[in-house]
Parts: sequence; C-alpha cells; structure tokens
Amino acid sequence: MELELQPLEMPSDRKRPVVISGPCSAETEEQLISTAAALAEKGCHIFRAGIWKPRTKPGGFEGNGEKALPWMKRVKDETGMLISTEVATPEHVELALKYGMDVLWVGARTTANPFAMQALADSLKGIDIPVLVKNPVNPDLELWIGALQRLNQAGLKRLGAIHRGFSSYEKKIYRNLPMWQIPIELHRRIPDLPIICDPSHIGGRRDLIAPLCQQAMDLGFDGLIVESHCNPDEAWSDAKQQVTPDILDDILSSLVVRNGHCKTEGLRQLRSQIDDLDNSLMELLAKRFHICREIGRYKKEHNMTVLQSERYNEILEKRGAQAALCGMDAEFAAHVFEFIHEESVRQQLAILNHRKEKQE
Ligand code: PEP
Ligand code: MN
Repeated sequence: MELELQPLEMPSDRKRPVVISGPCSAETEEQLISTAAALAEKGCHIFRAGIWKPRTKPGGFEGNGEKALPWMKRVKDETGMLISTEVATPEHVELALKYGMDVLWVGARTTANPFAMQALADSLKGIDIPVLVKNPVNPDLELWIGALQRLNQAGLKRLGAIHRGFSSYEKKIYRNLPMWQIPIELHRRIPDLPIICDPSHIGGRRDLIAPLCQQAMDLGFDGLIVESHCNPDEAWSDAKQQVTPDILDDILSSLVVRNGHCKTEGLRQLRSQIDDLDNSLMELLAKRFHICREIGRYKKEHNMTVLQSERYNEILEKRGAQAALCGMDAEFAAHVFEFIHEESVRQQLAILNHRKEKQE
C-alpha cells in the first residue's frame, strides 16, 4: 500500500533544517516558559514537551497530564512557536487538540503496538494535523511503515517519521542503536516521507548530540528533534541527554548542511566508477561460488562434512587482518565474509542433498 502524502509545512530557518526543540517533559509552568522563551529567542519555531511520559518502571515522573496543557498554550501565545507533544491514546489526542497542539508525535513504544496505533488512527480520523511517527523500539521497518499506513488510511496526509534509534540489551556507546540502514531503507521505500532525527534519544548523552546531528545532515535527513531544558542537570526525566537552549544554538550553528539535490558532473563520474567496481565485485563473487560448488562436489565424493570450521576461522581471520591493512574496518570485513560463507554453505548443502535424492 502506497502512502498518499502532503508536505508537512513545518516552519524552519532558511539556513537550517526543521528543528523541534524543548524539554523531555513539561515539569512546571516556569520551566516550560523559560525554556521556550530562550528557544524562541534563538530562532526555534517548533516547541516540544512531553505531557504524558511513558516510563519503563512505575514510580518515575509520568508527566503532568492535562494540567500542563494550558502552559503549552501559553508558550504558543507568548512566543509564536508551534507546539507539539507525544500522544499515545485517543484521550491524549482529544486533550492535545482541545488545547491547540499544532504537531503530534507517536512515541516508540506506541508505534510498536498495532492495537494502540489503530486506536490512535481512529481518533485522528478527519483531522488535518502533522503527525510524526517515531520508529518502534525494536528494529522492525515493517512495523514502522504499518503505523504510518494506519494513520494514512485514517486520512492523515501530513506525516513524517522520527528516527530515535533501537533498543538493545547490550548498551554500548548509544542509549539506542542508530542502525542507520533502517531509516535509509525507509527513505528508499517512501521517498516523499520527511525523516527527522532524534539525536537525544539515540545518544542518551549530551556530548553525542552534535556528532549525531551532523551525521543526520550528512545522510540527508529533513530535520532534527532535540531535547533542551533551561536547567538540564535538574531535569525530571532524561537529564543526561538534555542541553540548554544556548548549547543547542551552538550545535545548530556549527552544523554543515549539505545539498542533497545538487548533482554535479564530478559525482556522476565517481558513480560510474562505483558501478564498474560493483560489476567486478559481482563477477568475482560468481566465480567464487562456482569454485565453492566444485569443492562441494569434492566433499561429497570424499564423504566430508560441508562445514570445515578451521577453514572458516582461517578465512575470517585472514580477511579481517587484510581489511585493517587496507584501511577498512576488520569487523566489517568479517561480516562480509560471514555472509559469503553462509551462501557457500547453502550452495554446497544443495549439491549434497541433490545427489542424495538422485541416488534414492
Ligand atoms: C520523548 O521524546 O521524550 C520520548 C519518550 O521518546 P521515545 O518515544 O523515542 O522514547
Ligand atoms: Mn525524553
């Protein structure tokens, strides 16, 4: 099912991508107003704040709920910024609209739940408002697209996606793994859908925000949603990842925004070189599999097992070391050869089983 989309029409500075900013949560009226005033002064056009907060465990700050909505309305009236918040239930939608919310977003936990998504879509039927859908917590592109489809089927056309990274059991550098290939594939599948990057929830740490913003720009993302707070260390949720409006302004000012539409002659030439090299890679792979099949026949004749783990380890080690010498990532090379080896094993097993069938 193709999505029927219309432009989001969200304001931005001419020199900058679309930027949505504000605190993780609306904590107090003072916190909201002082953060919003500083952001507006720095030229931010769209304000964010969580009114209902999904928390992993009970007992944390779960948002002020309806009480905070008049504060948001005040932000809109006093600064002229558009206001946005997360909605997870039809009740949230009703209240958000009642208080003049301009942009809604669907949180990662809600996108992952088709029942909740359908209930949201039903409650938004007939309403023309931009809705941004965060990726589900698990790396499932179809689930992400499915959530967008449910909204689109309910008549919402001003849709966008927010990439906020994917949850993983092992925490390394990032709070949520970026897995950039997933939003890149989303863009390939739905080219007209704007994608906004959320470096705050990907990084989970202040110092990762600037490099993640730049990476998003280099990959051609359409905008950024960044958490900012007038006093980040004292924030009631996500304190480690929030920055002051001043710091946010510094981060945005030093961003290099590249032009994704500029197709120069030089680029065309380089792409044709890449095409030639890809051609050679495919031919080499075909030759390699041809020999693998010959080895498969040999193994069959000599009654050997297909998987010779010593040989497999030797290949992985040799190519990993070679990659490092050629200025490539050793882990990357190991992954490539894991894939190639998997396919070789599959082809050799097919040879073995085919012969068996013939003998029977
Ligand atoms: C948020 O934006 O504050 C939030 C809760 O995000 P996510 O749904 O990405 O976890
Ligand atoms: Mn947050």
